[in-house]
Amino acid sequence: MNKGEIFFNRKKEQLGVKLNDVQKKSVLHTKGPLLLLASPGSGKTTTTIMRIGYLIEEEGVEPSRIKAVTFSRASASDMKERFARFFPEHPTDSVDFSTIHSLAFQVVRDYFYKRNVSYQLIEGNQDGGPNKKLLVRKIYKSLNGENITEEQLEELTTYISFIKNKLLPREEWRNIDCDIPFVETIFEEYEKIKNANPSNLLLDYDDMLTIANDAFINDGMILQKYQNRYDYVLTDESQDTSLVQHAIIEKLVGPHRNLYVVADDDQSIYSWRGAEPKYLLDFKKVYPDAVILKMEQNYRSSKDIVDVANRFIKRNKDRYDKNMFTENPVQKPIVIKQFEDYRIQAKYLVQEIDRVERKKDVAVLYRNNSSSIMLINELDRNQIPFYIKDSDNRFFSHWVVKDILNFMRMTYTDKRVDIFEQIYTKCGFYLSREQLFWLAKKQPSESIFDRLFQYKGLKDYQVKQIQTCQKTFQEMKGEKPLKAIKLIRHQLGYDKTLKEMSKKLGFKTDYLFSVLQTLEEIADTLETMEQFADRLKHLENLLKASKFNKNKDAITLSTFHSSKGLEFKKVFMIDLIEGVIPSHDEITKYKDGERGLMEEAVRLFYVGMTRAEQELELLSYKKHNGKDVAQSRFVANVKNIILPPVKVQPAEPKNTRERGKSTVPYNPNAIKTADAIKEGMVVKHRVFGHGTIVSLGEGKIEIQFQKEKKALLLETCLEMGLLEPADEVWVK
Ligand code: ATP
Ligand code: MG
Repeated sequence: MNKGEIFFNRKKEQLGVKLNDVQKKSVLHTKGPLLLLASPGSGKTTTTIMRIGYLIEEEGVEPSRIKAVTFSRASASDMKERFARFFPEHPTDSVDFSTIHSLAFQVVRDYFYKRNVSYQLIEGNQDGGPNKKLLVRKIYKSLNGENITEEQLEELTTYISFIKNKLLPREEWRNIDCDIPFVETIFEEYEKIKNANPSNLLLDYDDMLTIANDAFINDGMILQKYQNRYDYVLTDESQDTSLVQHAIIEKLVGPHRNLYVVADDDQSIYSWRGAEPKYLLDFKKVYPDAVILKMEQNYRSSKDIVDVANRFIKRNKDRYDKNMFTENPVQKPIVIKQFEDYRIQAKYLVQEIDRVERKKDVAVLYRNNSSSIMLINELDRNQIPFYIKDSDNRFFSHWVVKDILNFMRMTYTDKRVDIFEQIYTKCGFYLSREQLFWLAKKQPSESIFDRLFQYKGLKDYQVKQIQTCQKTFQEMKGEKPLKAIKLIRHQLGYDKTLKEMSKKLGFKTDYLFSVLQTLEEIADTLETMEQFADRLKHLENLLKASKFNKNKDAITLSTFHSSKGLEFKKVFMIDLIEGVIPSHDEITKYKDGERGLMEEAVRLFYVGMTRAEQELELLSYKKHNGKDVAQSRFVANVKNIILPPVKVQPAEPKNTRERGKSTVPYNPNAIKTADAIKEGMVVKHRVFGHGTIVSLGEGKIEIQFQKEKKALLLETCLEMGLLEPADEVWVK
C-alpha cells in the first residue's frame, strides 16, 4: 500500500469518512495549483482539511508552513474546529487558519513600520476614535445638506468596498450603479480625509487589502518574507474572493505555486461587494499547469433536498452546468407553508422548535437581520436558547424605537423640555426651533402644552394638534404599552408623520412600519410601559449575549449570507416573500432586463436550501403590517419542482394507447402558452370543470369554478395541458 492509501484507510477507521476518488485525488495533489469546483455539501471543506492533515502526517510538512485562507473569522474558527475533530493529535493553532484580511493586516503593519508611517484603523472595535461610518455621515451631510439614512449609508459603504475590491481606476467609478447623490465626490473626499495626515493615515478594512497588494508590488523584501513563510496555501469558498484578494494570493504563492483553491460558482453571493467568481474561469490563464477537478455528489442532504435544489439552481443561466446528486436516502419532503400573517410564522416556529430534542440541530435562516428581532422575542418568551453569529443591534438604537420610548416618557411627565425636544418634530404641529427655545425659557413646572398655548402667533391647526397631543398623552397615562403604541400611531398621527418624512427624506416606509409592528408584538403581553422599556433592554442584552451560545444546545439564527459552509439537520427558511427574496430592487432590475442581481438572489436561496441535512421548511405569509404580500417566486418554483404529477383518471377507455409518459391524457385543445390566457376568460379544467379566470400573476392562475375559487400553478396547468378554452354558457 502506498502512503496515500495508508492515510485514507487510517482516517476511514478513525473517523468513518471514506473519501471518494476525486476527493482522494485532491488530497494527493500536493504540488502545483489545483482548482476544485464542486457542489454544496460535496466535501470541499472536508477535503481541504484532509489535505492539510495529509501534508502534515504523510508529507512531513511543518504545520506552520501551511496557510489556510478562509472567508470570514467565523469560517476560520469552523475550519479549526473541523481540523481538531479530524486530527486531534495536532494542536489547532499549529496551522495558520485565518481570513485574508488578517494576513493583509500583518503585511500592512510590516510595510508601514519600515516606512515609519503610523496609522489608525477606522473600522472594527473602537471607542471614540475616528470611525468610518461617522466620517462618511459627515461628508454626506456636508455635500447634501441632510442626514444620511441607514440604508443609504449601507449603499455608500458597499460602493466604496466594491471599488476597492475590484481595484477600479477613477475613470471607471462612474459606471458603478449607485443612487447616492454626489457619490464620487463623497468617495474622493473620504479618501482625502483619510490620507490628510501622511504620518497618521486612517485605514478601513478594504485599505488593508489594497495596501497589502501594493506592498507586495513595491517592496520585494516584504513579498519575499511572506513568500518564504508558507509552502502551501489553501483557500476555501473562493467564489467569494475578490480581485484584490486573488491578486494578493497570486503573489504570495509566486515561487512555489502550491495553491489549492476550492469553490462553487453557484454559491457566489458577494458579487455586490466585489467578489470575482469569474476569476475562476481564468484560473488556467494564471496557472496554465493547474489541475481542475469537479465534484457533484452531495453527502450532506437527503435526496429530497438535493434533487430539488439541483433543479432549482438551473433557473440561472450564468453558471457552469453541474448536476448535483446524492446517494443519501429520502427523508421528509420539503415542507412549504404560507401563514396568514408573519406573526403566526413566529408562533409556528417556536412551536416546532420546542418539539425538537437537540436544539443545536436546528437553524432558522432569513435574508435580513431585521427578521430576527420578532423571533428572539418569541423564543425568549418560550425559553428557547439561540445562537446568533453576527447579531445586529441596530433595531434597538433605531430612531423609531427611541421615538416610541420618548412618547411613552411624556406620559409620565409632560413638563420636561429635554424629552419633548427629542420628539417635537414628530408631533404633527410643526414647531420651529425658535418656538422650542422660547418654550425652554418658560416655567419648567408647567405642562409643556399649557406653556405652548401661551405662545402668540400659533396657527389654528397647530393649536388643534397641540390639544390632540395633550389629550393623547393624558389618555396614554397608565395604559398598557400596546394600547399606548396604537394611540401614538393613530391618534397622535405618528404613522402619518412617518409617511410624510419618508416622502421627504427617502426613508423606506415599509421598514419603519415593520419596526412599529415588531414593537407592538413585543408590547403585546406586557402590562406597563416601564415593563416595555425593560423588555427592550432585556432583548437587546440577550441579542448581544447570544454570540456566546455557540457551544451550548441552542438553535442557530442566521442570515442566508452567514450560513455559508454550515450544515444543520433541520433548516427553516423564513420570510420568503416577494420584496424580501427577491428584493424590490432585484425585481425591478430583472424587469428592466438585467439578470445579474436576480441570479445572485437565486444563489442566495440555493445556499440556504443546501444547508439542510434532513428537513427543510420554506415559510412565508400572506400579510405583513396589514398589507398583502406575495409568496416568493422562488418558493413557487420549488413548489413546481416538487409537486407530484396530477393523477387523473384517463378519459379514454383503458386499452387506448397511452400518449407519452404523462399520467394526464393528451388533450389537443389544451392551452399551451401563458399569452393565450386572459383574465375573465372561461376555461375548462380537466379535473375541476368549467370556470372563469379571476386573476393571473406571480406564476399563479386563480379560477372561479362553479363550487369554489382555486389558485393553481400556471406552469403546471400549461405543462400538463390541464386547461382548454370553453364556452361562457357553462359558467352562467
Ligand atoms: P459547502 O459548499 O456547503 O461549503 P462543502 O462542499 O464544503 O459544502 P463539506 O462541508 O466539506 O462540504 O461536507 C458536507 C458534509 O458531507 C459533511 O458533513 C461531511 O462530513 C460529509 N462528507 C464529505 N465527504 C464525505 C465522504 N466522502 N463520505 C461521507 N461523508 C462526507
Ligand atoms: Mg464548505
